[in-house]
Amino acid sequence: MIKFTYPGPALNCCYHNHSSWSDGGTELEEVCRTAKKIGLREFGLSDHWVVPPKDGMNSEVWSMRLDRLNEYVTTLQKLKKELEDETFSLKMGLEVDFFYENADSVLKELTDSPLDYLIGSVHYSDIFPIDHSIEPWIALSEAEKKEICEIYWKKLEGAAARKEFSFIGHLDLPKKFGMINNDDYFEHAVRVLDIVQKTGIGIELNTAGWFKECEEQYPSLAILKEANVRKIPVIVNADAHDPAHLQRNFEKAAEVLCKAGYPERTFH
Ligand SMILES: [Zn+2]
Ligand SMILES: [Zn+2]
Repeated sequence: MIKFTYPGPALNCCYHNHSSWSDGGTELEEVCRTAKKIGLREFGLSDHWVVPPKDGMNSEVWSMRLDRLNEYVTTLQKLKKELEDETFSLKMGLEVDFFYENADSVLKELTDSPLDYLIGSVHYSDIFPIDHSIEPWIALSEAEKKEICEIYWKKLEGAAARKEFSFIGHLDLPKKFGMINNDDYFEHAVRVLDIVQKTGIGIELNTAGWFKECEEQYPSLAILKEANVRKIPVIVNADAHDPAHLQRNFEKAAEVLCKAGYPERTFH
């Protein structure tokens, strides 16, 4: 699996993107071709891989079919042959939901496959969908919201301890809909960063957050500053579900990283 080093790759790389193999709106082939056309040097496709440990999660409506892994890999391998040259490299990845209940078997299967990298993400607190829509959040009391967040951060500690992941996705995701005070969980995030540092993996600066109700990249500047203190590599990613978003707000991301203390990030 790919291992990133501090401070992280240049801005003309993007490792967190989705196609119609999961919840993206565009065919995989077109997404990859667009990435090359707009001048990305390293492009990673990372459709959702969710193996739900219990019923009631409905993950099949937005994640890849679990019997199609080989087909996904073969499709990407074919595109690699066609598109790769000295200016463009295509990486085969997945965004994997972490669950304590099945992490060992799920990660064993994926690390045995020819995939290049795995993103470790948490989209569920128990069966509560963290980032699906604002409606379930509106129905929660303050105490319930706190419980959802506590479970989220505990799960993220588990993900951060897995060296199979190249980096952790959208670290402070529960802030997405602006329904919680993200600062209340700063210490939780720092605990996760301590584990990420020990495991020797990275985190991402995910620019999609700027276009959600929270109107901020994931994770916050305060968390990125702590990541820099720990010399944790940061990968700037669009989490694009549409090829038009492949480099969305990357210059703004570079500015935020500078504010966090990271060395200046350029497009080369
Ligand atoms: Zn995600
Ligand atoms: Zn994603």
